[in-house]
Amino acid sequence: MSSGPSAPGSSGSGSAAFERLVVERARAAERLTALRLEFARLLEYSADVGADDEHDIEGASMPFEREQLRATLRQAAGKAEEIDAAFARLAAGTYGTCTLCGQPMGAGRLEARPAARTCARCA
Ligand SMILES: [Zn+2]
Repeated sequence: MSSGPSAPGSSGSGSAAFERLVVERARAAERLTALRLEFARLLEYSADVGADDEHDIEGASMPFEREQLRATLRQAAGKAEEIDAAFARLAAGTYGTCTLCGQPMGAGRLEARPAARTCARCA
């Protein structure tokens, strides 16, 4: 399984970035799926308690939990979008260049945050 999907322009450091992004995207997709499931369960549960007044006390904590989960979901979706954008930059040959100042981001930052759009200074 070490060959993986073929990297565009697999010469130089681009393929390492590609592989990192593939891993990141798989992780982000997994997390999104898990969060969506959890959210669906939470909605189902609050619909159940909402139909029964006797469970109001338990139900009181639900809106907060739901909002928190919604925020986490939004964050995870944003991250997945960031990764897709990074793939697009990789294909366009602009990956690793800060989208704000146009300077190279540096290998360390890209290793820590493969989907980063900006350098550490512009972040
Ligand atoms: Zn910058």
